[in-house]
Amino acid sequence: MLDMNWIRENEELVRNTAVWKKVDFPLDELLEWDDKRRGLRRDTEQHRAQRNTLTKEVEQLLRQGDTPGGEAAKEQVRKINVLLGKLEADLAEADRRCGELQLLAPNPVSGDTPIGDDDSQNVELRRTGALPDFGFAPRDHVELGELHDIIDIPRGVKAGGPRSYVLKGAGLNLHLAVQRLALDVLAARGFTTMDVPVIVRPEALERTGFFPGGMDQTYELTGEKRWLAGTSEVSLVSLYSDEIVDLAEPMRLAGMSTCFRREVGSAGRDVRGLYRVHQFSKIEQVVLCRGDNKVSEQMLQEILANAEHILQLLELPYRVVAVCSGDMALKTHKQYDIETWMPSRGAYGETHSASNLLDFQARRSGIRYRDEDGRLQYCHTLNNTAVATPRILIPLLENHQQEDGTIYIPKALQPYMGGREYLPAP
Ligand code: AMP
Repeated sequence: MLDMNWIRENEELVRNTAVWKKVDFPLDELLEWDDKRRGLRRDTEQHRAQRNTLTKEVEQLLRQGDTPGGEAAKEQVRKINVLLGKLEADLAEADRRCGELQLLAPNPVSGDTPIGDDDSQNVELRRTGALPDFGFAPRDHVELGELHDIIDIPRGVKAGGPRSYVLKGAGLNLHLAVQRLALDVLAARGFTTMDVPVIVRPEALERTGFFPGGMDQTYELTGEKRWLAGTSEVSLVSLYSDEIVDLAEPMRLAGMSTCFRREVGSAGRDVRGLYRVHQFSKIEQVVLCRGDNKVSEQMLQEILANAEHILQLLELPYRVVAVCSGDMALKTHKQYDIETWMPSRGAYGETHSASNLLDFQARRSGIRYRDEDGRLQYCHTLNNTAVATPRILIPLLENHQQEDGTIYIPKALQPYMGGREYLPAP
């Protein structure tokens, strides 16, 4: 959420941001309601002051024995109270409307964010790792999964409906191995690893910036007033809502969770295999740091580097792209995506997404810290994928396949796979 005074002082930037992010933000309506609220506040205060003066007058007149004068002043107090009741109700309504509209204000994008309409205008920054040169017709991950009997999509769909899957045997082991590797890497780098709630309150989704906009992408639990989170970021940030946290050092958190996504609007897209599913697992990095753009930029680079390190341990070729304004969420200030080479797509596919949100979530969530002068300030929050699976199994299986169907297991994963170097050809 953006501060109302800041919105007023930066009206043009807010207007431009809405255009760059392609969001419908009723700024004029918000400004009107805020004007109304300011007027109502002024009127309310004036009438309260008038009432207090008159109340004192009533007491004085009655004490002096001036009953008619006292009664007349009393009548005036009664009339002001009626008016105040109406003003207070109008003010509460104006506050409510401003609050609602403020939730829709987009976070401004960083100066180095490319301005563009969609992911086709993201800007590639670098490529790492050589693309595989198979010298044979490679199989895609679905064929490899069937060959090794480690992925069963038809039976997954039978139980769970479209975009469901089953991972079994070595497939499940790989799914667990990549997560355990990511957790160990992050723990060694100072992250506190956590298993957090995936059933969350709507307030947690609103305060982390997923609601009200993302309601149609989220599964609601009927009769529960709770929802299934699409990422552990929701819980990790909400753990500290309404708290004053110690940020002498940035708080580095790693959440392990199942993620649930309705993927509304993606009908017909990525329907084959494991790329776009409704339920997946993710190790997520979340950082809370001081509200200083330099510090949060440093942390963005750090969580990006952590994800790249994990991909290098998985021996996978990838590229880093600067995400353009039109491909960003309302809450995001600056974003990098990492796309990993997926031979079956003949392209890099998104596997990680790193974002700096500045104080957008902290304001909504009430997360503050004391600065050097003891003043309370909102912190900055950031997040990035460490690993998301089964999507990462696509490049893992496809890039590491051998001609005979054997699949090489990267060195760093081998300890989590019982020391095996290969999934042998069946
Ligand atoms: P996000 O939290 O939307 O930035 O996504 C982070 C990562 O989660 C993506 O880069 C993917 O690796 C993975 N992911 C997101 N949505 C899906 C999905 N529907 N199916 C499989 N993986 C997903």
